[in-house]
Amino acid sequence: MNDAKIIKDQRTAVVNEEFCGNCEFCPVTCPYGAISLEPTSEEHFIARISDLLCEGCGTCVGTCPLNAIELRHSRPNQMLAQMKGLMSINGTPKPLVLAICCSECGHTAVDSSGMAMIPYPASVRIMKVPCTGILQVHQLLEAFKSGAQGVMVVGCKSDGCHYEVGVQKAEKKVELAKTLLKEYGIEPDRLAMFNMVFIEGREFAQATQMMTQTLEKLGPLSLTDDSSIKA
Ligand code: SF4
Ligand code: SF4
Repeated sequence: MNDAKIIKDQRTAVVNEEFCGNCEFCPVTCPYGAISLEPTSEEHFIARISDLLCEGCGTCVGTCPLNAIELRHSRPNQMLAQMKGLMSINGTPKPLVLAICCSECGHTAVDSSGMAMIPYPASVRIMKVPCTGILQVHQLLEAFKSGAQGVMVVGCKSDGCHYEVGVQKAEKKVELAKTLLKEYGIEPDRLAMFNMVFIEGREFAQATQMMTQTLEKLGPLSLTDDSSIKA
């Protein structure tokens, strides 16, 4: 009898079949071939995700135009609650910054800065995501509505993403979000993408200092009403 076992992280993506609009985007997005399309009728099909093949990066979540995919343990409502919690209190005279860091190089660079005792402003709050590829444009805008004066997205180097393509997709979404911020009359420099490798604690600390200085020059961000940003 073969009693071999596969031990695997349960952080995998799930499709809400009710919302899936058979657009075919997600199968070509997944770097691991974990998504297939299953016909439900002659003209319709829905996306199916293999728990075995899914590596839990969330890139498909950030790509689905109909918000039909969620990642277990990083569902949009959980991410929003985390964002709001992190932005609820400042307690320093410096502007609040949300640093959204991937679990690989981004967050490890934060740890590296701590281990090397390189300080960064206490007003910079770290939000860890599996891969920056999970981010959706509206979430970047939502961060400002939650109280961030600036938002940093910190991922791997463009050609060194631990999930193959996630960080490249994040870079494009940051650019799009910057365009939208400009449309809303908000300085695009309040949002920035940073790419680093895990040992670059000093670079992370420098990036936070740079962002803080930029925000201090720009002055406080005041959103006049909820419609200022349509996140
Ligand atoms: S991207 Fe979203 S809507 Fe399109 S097939 Fe995949 S799950 Fe369905
Ligand atoms: S979470 Fe990543 S690995 Fe899993 S199905 Fe989505 S894109 Fe593929």
